[in-house]
Amino acid sequence: MHLTIRARLTLLYFVVLAASFVAFFWICDFGFRRSIEITVNDASRSNVETVRRVIEGSLPRGLPKVQKELSELAGLWANGAIFEVAGPDGQWIFRPQRFQASQTPLPEAPASGMSFLTTNLQSLQYRIARERVIIAGNVFLIDAAVPTEPFDQALDGFRLIEKRFLPLLVVLASLLGYWLSGRALAPVNRIVESAASIGVQNLSRRLEVPRAMDELRRLTETLNAMLDRIESSVAHITQFTADASHDLRTPLALIRTNAELALRRPRRDDEYRETLVRILAAAEESTQLIEHLLTLARADAGASQLRFESADLSIVLRKVSQQARILALSKGLGFSEEIDAGPLPVSMDASAMERLLLALLDNAVKYTPQGSVSLRSYSCAGQAIVEVQDTGVGIAETDMPHIFDRFYRADQVRSREVRGSGLGLAIARWIAEMHKGAIEVESELGHGSVFRVDLPLLNSESHHPPVPERQKTAAGLAV
Ligand code: ADP
Repeated sequence: MHLTIRARLTLLYFVVLAASFVAFFWICDFGFRRSIEITVNDASRSNVETVRRVIEGSLPRGLPKVQKELSELAGLWANGAIFEVAGPDGQWIFRPQRFQASQTPLPEAPASGMSFLTTNLQSLQYRIARERVIIAGNVFLIDAAVPTEPFDQALDGFRLIEKRFLPLLVVLASLLGYWLSGRALAPVNRIVESAASIGVQNLSRRLEVPRAMDELRRLTETLNAMLDRIESSVAHITQFTADASHDLRTPLALIRTNAELALRRPRRDDEYRETLVRILAAAEESTQLIEHLLTLARADAGASQLRFESADLSIVLRKVSQQARILALSKGLGFSEEIDAGPLPVSMDASAMERLLLALLDNAVKYTPQGSVSLRSYSCAGQAIVEVQDTGVGIAETDMPHIFDRFYRADQVRSREVRGSGLGLAIARWIAEMHKGAIEVESELGHGSVFRVDLPLLNSESHHPPVPERQKTAAGLAV
């Protein structure tokens, strides 16, 4: 059964109220009955006492006098109270008609003390107090009866009110509960309506925060904070898509223009070759860009396929060092390496690590017009540390916070027309983080830069690959 919160609250309210009212009326009823019983018992007890005193006062003048006094006393009693008295020989010395006519015999009176019972005398209900009293050595039995009808009527009246008002009260209170829960839930409906109206086109809209410092305010603020994160993620994605399309257009336009120009008229073989070389370079550039984009997209989706194994980082370092040396020498730069002689055991994906180090070394060569590049590695405080240093253009302080952002390229390198996509460092940082490591950079504009990679060393006992923690956040798009 699917009930709304409002209906459920009202139902709960109804059940709790009905139970409380029933309990309340039951307690009142019980208290009423108890107090009636006490009042009637007191009245009949004091009547027995009065009769006893009359007998005591008139007995010295003989039984007939007692009988006379008793019948006078009976004439004085109002409110329908009656009594009967049995004399020392067990015969009734005073007995009104109502007692005589009663069919049901009264139970034996107790040997001592007073007993109470409720019975009908000629179809009228009475509370009777019975007591055996000894007056001047004679035993008398006194029954004093008080009619309970007036009290019963009061009790019936109360019960009638109970029957009529209890359901009415419960229904009224439930209606009130329905109204109250509606009022309490009204802000939720407003939140639902506003939230439903927010889409990609109006992501900057926010939910109205209620003034009261309550749970709904917290809920609204939490939803608004979530919208902030979604908005910034969507902005990231939009920017990323725009940058990617822009960067892909450039090599494609180059390929097209070169092909068109070549086809305009017949050309010599060497001219065709030249054009094809340019087309190939542009195709390689776009392939590399697409590969970078795919890597980042997989990282964002948390679907990266890195395979971690315990391996020696020095081996990877020696391999990339050879490639970097060729790159540097072909550009006329100096190259030096200082790789730790001992093994540097690290849990890593070797090809991803190679990619990270090559990205740094490639940048060092790219952004160093003249001078040298060096590669250094050592271990320190449980970390394997790799430094890639160059004596190149350096990085301006204003660019420093952004160089790891996607598509970010410092203005001065753009103007020098150094090839690149601005994705290399974003991927390098992601790889480092997947290895529970970090990349830091120090640079001085015009003098060169040092990129430092820290990776946790495996201790000899535990060579298990670490489980990457930041799969989703690494590429900065997770909400
Ligand atoms: P790119 O494809 O442009 O090299 P990267 O993500 O690798 O993209 O680098 C981002 C930017 O950081 C570069 O465009 C450049 O401005 C700056 N940068 C990276 N490495 C160096 C370096 N060794 N020296 C100077 N600037 C660098």
